[in-house]
Amino acid sequence: MARVRLENVTKRFEDVTAVDDVSLEVEDGEFVTFVGPSGCGKSTTMETVAGLTKPTEGRVFIGDDEVTNLAPKDRGVAMVFQNIALFPHMDVFENVSFGLRLRTYDDDEIRRRVESAAEIVQLEGMLERMPDELSGGQRQRVAIARAIVRNPDVFLMDEPLANLDAKLRVHMRTELQRLHRELGTTIIYVTHDQAEAMTMSDRIAVLNEGRLQQIAPPLVCYNEPANRFVAGFIGSPSMNFAEGTVTNGHIETAHFDVSLARAAVPETAVGDEITVGIRPEDVHVAENADVLDEPSEPIDVRTDVLEPMGDEVFVYLMLTDSADHSMEEDPTSSSDQLLMSVTPDTEIRENQSVDVVLDRSKVHLFETETGTALA
Ligand code: ATP
Repeated sequence: MARVRLENVTKRFEDVTAVDDVSLEVEDGEFVTFVGPSGCGKSTTMETVAGLTKPTEGRVFIGDDEVTNLAPKDRGVAMVFQNIALFPHMDVFENVSFGLRLRTYDDDEIRRRVESAAEIVQLEGMLERMPDELSGGQRQRVAIARAIVRNPDVFLMDEPLANLDAKLRVHMRTELQRLHRELGTTIIYVTHDQAEAMTMSDRIAVLNEGRLQQIAPPLVCYNEPANRFVAGFIGSPSMNFAEGTVTNGHIETAHFDVSLARAAVPETAVGDEITVGIRPEDVHVAENADVLDEPSEPIDVRTDVLEPMGDEVFVYLMLTDSADHSMEEDPTSSSDQLLMSVTPDTEIRENQSVDVVLDRSKVHLFETETGTALA
């Protein structure tokens, strides 16, 4: 069993708390990705599993065994990092087999393992090449093969695709998914690239400021974010947010109102400060919104910049002030812009006055003070 469990793991570096009381469990054979912004503690959390960092507090388990104080080599883990350091004077075979030689396997066993790993990462026929005769993607596959030959219980991968160009990264994404399917090994993967996290993982663990925000399948994090941080981090472009106050049956923001269709928000009371969240794809031009079951009241906006992306167009909308909101309002308030994503056949141009509606069934509500999602 290669289940990985962190129990209240905290890691402090003098005055920096890199990991703050993280508890989570990765099932045997599961592919879990740690995501979050730079400095949120992804690598440090993974290093506590690898044994490269000892937690200040808390415990780490692999399978049924506590490994908190074990050396990396005794944990049954293999690591692949962003900076693939291949030995330049060794060919692919020697690079892949290097770790095995240190473990004194016999020559036949070494050849068998290297050939099998080379087949998995599709490097057969390249075993005699030198690193400078390989592409970036091929070098990365050598690094992965070097981890595979050790037959680990758990793979730990820290941004292994970060140095590759965009096209190769997408290709390697599918290769890693295939690798996971074929080997069935537990994988913990670290990335700040949410597309990588969304496409490859069984579950993603979203971290911010050292704290675990949510651990759930990618679409659950997308559709049911636990808090405002996850809502804003997962999804590209980001969710729109507008701060508002609960009035009778409505949430009133600086520029528009949303009626509380779902009577099922029992936690709210008149006067509560609530943040409304809506994804760009859930904002629609009013006259095209007859497909919606629950459109909001029309909101009068002016289009600003249009960004055609090919399969969709991002439209930046300026929210015009409604009559009862004076111009003295804080001009830095974040809620006077709204981003809408529409299909390329939508008739819309820059600097045009238009009515938009929100798909009320897709509106997210967060307690403004804590950021916690409301049902
Ligand atoms: P990135 O995506 O930029 O690699 P990350 O999410 O992996 O970031 P970590 O590398 O885990 O973040 O770092 C978390 C925090 O701990 C950061 O504030 C970092 O500066 C700090 N930190 C990490 N390692 C050390 C160290 N050895 N000494 C002091 N502070 C450290």
